[in-house]
Amino acid sequence: MKVEVICGPMFSGKTEELIRRITRAKYAKLRVLSFKPSIDSRYSKTSIASHSGAREACFAVNQVEDILDIINQRGQGFPDIVAIEEAQFFEQEGFKNVLCYLRKQHTKTIIAGLDMDFAGVPFENIIYAMGIANRVDKLSAVCVECGADATMTYRKSDSNERVEIGETDIYEARCYGCWQRKKPLKKAM
Ligand SMILES: [Zn+2]
Repeated sequence: MKVEVICGPMFSGKTEELIRRITRAKYAKLRVLSFKPSIDSRYSKTSIASHSGAREACFAVNQVEDILDIINQRGQGFPDIVAIEEAQFFEQEGFKNVLCYLRKQHTKTIIAGLDMDFAGVPFENIIYAMGIANRVDKLSAVCVECGADATMTYRKSDSNERVEIGETDIYEARCYGCWQRKKPLKKAM
């Protein structure tokens, strides 16, 4: 019934917060199933893992529709909580449909993901989830240039692809001013 969104730039602790909510739910004996797109295999293929090393077992799925298939195959009905990590990577139409379907169940869906890409363009899935959410938490990181709150993800590499999996090797958290001064190649909105 409820939708919660945890978003923000890279290194803002989104995954940490998602794992914290999952852990709390498990203490309350709620049934939780966690998913992430299989595109994201930076740390682990079978768990949600934060930069600080916290982990939570999950299903890595190729398509967002696989989430419903897995729930159905288990034959235990819908869990109390469905957690979806890195939700910006799923195909848009499918994501919308799956989220709306989950919302109709007695299930709380917690969506975690990047609110904007490196060029400052919002990710459609997260915009949609924020629109229908009961609760939205926009987290900030710390700007590596000036120490202010960072809302932007800056890409150090020359790549212009929207999705490029990486860590501190190619990404930095920056405040808007520091992000803008060294503007990425792609034109921002
Ligand atoms: Zn700054």
